[in-house]
Amino acid sequence: MTTTLITGANKGLGYETARRLVAAGHTVYVGSRNADRGRRAAEQLGPGARAVQLDVTDDASVAAAVKTIEADGGLDVLINNAGIEARGPHNEVVGAADVTADLMREVFETNVFGTVRVTHAFLTLLQRSAAPIVVNVSSGLASLAHAADPAHPAAAYPGVAYPASKTAVNMITVQYAKAFPDMRINAVEPGFTRTDLNRNTGTQTVEEGAEIIVRMAQVGPDDPTGGYYDAEGPLPW
Ligand code: NAP
Repeated sequence: MTTTLITGANKGLGYETARRLVAAGHTVYVGSRNADRGRRAAEQLGPGARAVQLDVTDDASVAAAVKTIEADGGLDVLINNAGIEARGPHNEVVGAADVTADLMREVFETNVFGTVRVTHAFLTLLQRSAAPIVVNVSSGLASLAHAADPAHPAAAYPGVAYPASKTAVNMITVQYAKAFPDMRINAVEPGFTRTDLNRNTGTQTVEEGAEIIVRMAQVGPDDPTGGYYDAEGPLPW
């Protein structure tokens, strides 16, 4: 029996990933910073899903989630999915002229420090698993190669904080993968998906977006680690 925790699983890509992994037979902890939203999501997902209150920016919340999951038997798969995008007062992407240290800090607190906080807290449980897996939900906007290539569509995105946070997630993925060779630890780019993150302007469905997250949550011990993938295959850093 595989036990999986997904952060930010009360809606969007995290919820869809939970739905698919429950269907695949995983016991899925639906991480949600709001306990009611998490409980409702877990109820909708049915048997196989369990709600756990988890705010990735809050040490006490993460520590309590570790205790709960440890008491229930441990963890095999961690999906660091919770994420936020930086928007200005008029819902605009905040570009280089307007980005501030405070905005960077806010975005990094969830996307970067949250990923490290949760991964660090669950390391002991993951190391007890026979086949531990970590999936870090990154973004296509994390790719320095694409951002620096004027011919690539990602180069047109003017935001600073969000892509920088996801580039940091990629580096974290590489360094953790080297440090823990017995774990499969990969970063994934779901693609531009219709969720609240982008005010539902994305072009893919959540079913399409969750595809690579679900796949990387089910890799075998001999599959690659320390990589960065979308549904089509490896991406350039
Ligand atoms: P979403 O629908 O807005 O879902 C984001 C989830 O993260 C929500 O459950 C949200 O909870 C949760 N969250 C935010 N801050 C949190 C915190 N401090 N602690 C715990 N949970 C928190 O967005 P999504 O598109 O599904 O995003 C999921 C992941 O995919 C993110 O990492 C995002 O960067 C990445 N991604 C998305 C796209 C896309 O096109 N949608 C593309 C590339 C990558 P609340 O409901 O409480 O706010």
